[in-house]
This record gives sequence, structure tokens and C-alpha cells, in this order.
Amino acid sequence: MILRIDRLATELPRPKAPNANAAAAVQELLGGKFGEMSTLMNYTYQSFNFRGKSKLRPFYDLIANIAAEEYSHIELVAATINLLCSGTTKRSDRRKASGAKEHDAPLENATDFRNTYHFIASGQSALPVDSMGNFWTGANVFSSGNLKLDLLHNFFLECGARANKMRVYEMTTDPTARAMVGFLLVRGGVHIVAYARALEKLTGADVGKLLPIPDVSNKKFPEARKHEEKGLHRILYRFSPEDYTRVGEVWNGPHPEDGQELIVEDKIPEGAPWPELEEEPQLSSPGVDPEMIQYFSKKLGGVSYEEEFESGARSKRRFQGVTKTSRR
Ligand code: MN
Ligand code: MN
Repeated sequence: MILRIDRLATELPRPKAPNANAAAAVQELLGGKFGEMSTLMNYTYQSFNFRGKSKLRPFYDLIANIAAEEYSHIELVAATINLLCSGTTKRSDRRKASGAKEHDAPLENATDFRNTYHFIASGQSALPVDSMGNFWTGANVFSSGNLKLDLLHNFFLECGARANKMRVYEMTTDPTARAMVGFLLVRGGVHIVAYARALEKLTGADVGKLLPIPDVSNKKFPEARKHEEKGLHRILYRFSPEDYTRVGEVWNGPHPEDGQELIVEDKIPEGAPWPELEEEPQLSSPGVDPEMIQYFSKKLGGVSYEEEFESGARSKRRFQGVTKTSRR
């Protein structure tokens, strides 16, 4: 079972401007082959399918615990996409601006944006697709039943995810996207080291010597460095009130990059509140049709729209959002 907390993993600033094409690029980090949907589902299935727990408990605890953290990562990337998509089209609220007509095209500029699914299939918000609009697939899940192979895969997956994050960082200067990438470079870095440590414990191989992949330190990215200065790259959070207590048998010793001690934190991160996302009224363009409201009003209650509308409190409740100007 999973416990859900209604907070974001880290604070996201507002975008400097709406940016639908940056949102399209960021989709790779959500629904791409190396995106957060993939890390989440790989570790989730590997934990479901884990055999021999009594003998290999610390490895199970590690994979299951990291799976839980990945949920907070899909949430963070989705929030970034939603913020970037907000305000990308012209808001024409018929309820406020009575001039809007059926033939107006408030979504017209969306034809210039790379991902039209953001405007047709969703309410200018995240979808489980990659940066080219391909839907995420379960074919991205590797769960072989061989612990050494799964750990090796996970190490590779996290390194691939790291490379993709850096490239998306290079594609946009937007502060929201970069804040998200910076934070996830640090947390993904923890997962890389965690799977490297697991392989070392299981086999004796010195996997830490391969790091970093790609050959750039997180400390080169200001949005990542600020988290590392607080020690976030050394902390593995235990994402459960009481379980996964043996992660510390894998997550221990010096960090391969800066030699500082690895720490298990016995609680989930504090996180930050979700940013408020405004309504996009143009999505229901051209807005409420008063004649249709009148028709259904008569059909349901036998009272006309005009009577209802003029009769005060009850009508306000019933026709919430419909104003006099919109009846023209
Ligand atoms: Mn992640
Ligand atoms: Mn990860």
C-alpha cells in the first residue's frame, strides 16, 4: 500500500513566461524511456516481483523505498509541465468578456506548439507521453527476476535519466524547468549511488569508480548545487512510517564523489505546497450557451431560465457562473 502526501517534493518557482515548447521538451523527463514514469514503474514491479526477501531484505527495502520516492518525481515533473503550459493560449472568458463568438479561435496559437495533445487531449497539462508525444509504455519496464541484472539495469536507467535531464536543462532557461531538473539531478544522483552501492555489496565490484556518468558533477548546476550544499545528495529518505528499515545496510559509507558520509533519514522530505493552477476558460470555448441552459432548466424543473435567474439566491446556486452579460 502507499501513503500519499499532498505536497510537492520541492518548491517550484513560477515560469518567467508561459512556454508550451519547453513543456513539450520536459515531457521526456516524465513519459520518456528514461523518464520518471519508467523509474517509478521499474522499481515498483521489481519490488512486487522480488523473491527471497528473507535472505536479501536490504536490497528489497532499497528498491521498494526508491520506488516510493519516484512517485514524488512524476508529481514534480507533471507540476512543471502544468505551470509551463499555463497561459500559453489567449484566455477569452465568455462569462466576463461577452464579445466572444462561436467562431473565435482562442486556441489558435496552439497549432504552433510542438505537442498539440497538451491542447486537444488534456487541459493544457501533463500526459504520460515523451517529448515527441509518444505514449509511455510498459515495454520500458525491466523486471528480470535476477537481482544482479535488475540492479545493473537500474544503475544504467538512472544514468540515462541523468543524461536526459542535463539535455533538457540545456534546452530551456526557464526557472521552473531548471529548478525541477536541479532537484531531480540531486535525487537521481542519490539513486545512482544507491544502485552502485547495492551492486558493490552484492558482488564486490567497485561500481563507484564509474561515476559520474555523464562526466559532469551536479555541483556545476546552480539549481542542483544549492541542494547538495544542504547535504541532499547524501540523504536517502525512508518513504514509509515503519517499513524499509534495512535500507541503511546498503546506503552507508562515503559518497563516491565528495567522500562525505551517506545518511538514512527516517522520514519523508518536508516538501512544498502545490502551486495554484488557474482555470483556462478558453478550453470550454465558446463558453456557456444560455439557450441550452434554458432548455435544460425547463426540462428539469419546469421553471424557465428567466424566472430562475431573476429569483435570487436559488438561481445563483443553480446557475453558478452564468451572468446577465452571458445571456446576450
Ligand atoms: Mn526520479
Ligand atoms: Mn531515480
